Amino acid sequence: MNGRKTPERQSLPAGVSDEGTALGAKAHASTLPESEQEWRERLGEARFRICRQGGTEPPFSGALLYEKRPGRYRCAACGLPLFASQAKFESGCGWPSFFAAIDERAIRYLDDDSHGMQRTEIRCARCDSHLGHVFDDGPPPTGRRFCVNSLSLVFRPDED
Ligand SMILES: [Zn+2]
Repeated sequence: MNGRKTPERQSLPAGVSDEGTALGAKAHASTLPESEQEWRERLGEARFRICRQGGTEPPFSGALLYEKRPGRYRCAACGLPLFASQAKFESGCGWPSFFAAIDERAIRYLDDDSHGMQRTEIRCARCDSHLGHVFDDGPPPTGRRFCVNSLSLVFRPDED
């Protein structure tokens, strides 16, 4: 639109409000793209491939893998808060890992038997964008490991 490039890091896609955290807020939902072409334009090719086509970024490549500041991880596509820094842990698997979601209702779970494996895919419950997978080998207290692509997330540090 204005031809100016906004920095990819830490920024929500154009048109995504950072206001409000309520799940399923109608104001947000109404601003979501309606076609995959619109999603492609909003997210850019790299995020589109992960978020809308279920792709996986290479392990140890993600910008948020070593992020340790307190804050919240939001859906890169719609801005919904998904994970808190308090639930992040070093899994060694090469992708940002969390033992719990901020709100169970923020995550959609789907059976995924692609690549000859039985896994559970996780998606944003609001915009249905692909996040990653969840496994049962995480640490206490949940024993779960939400394995999430950095490109599926935008990190917002807590205000001081
Ligand atoms: Zn979303």
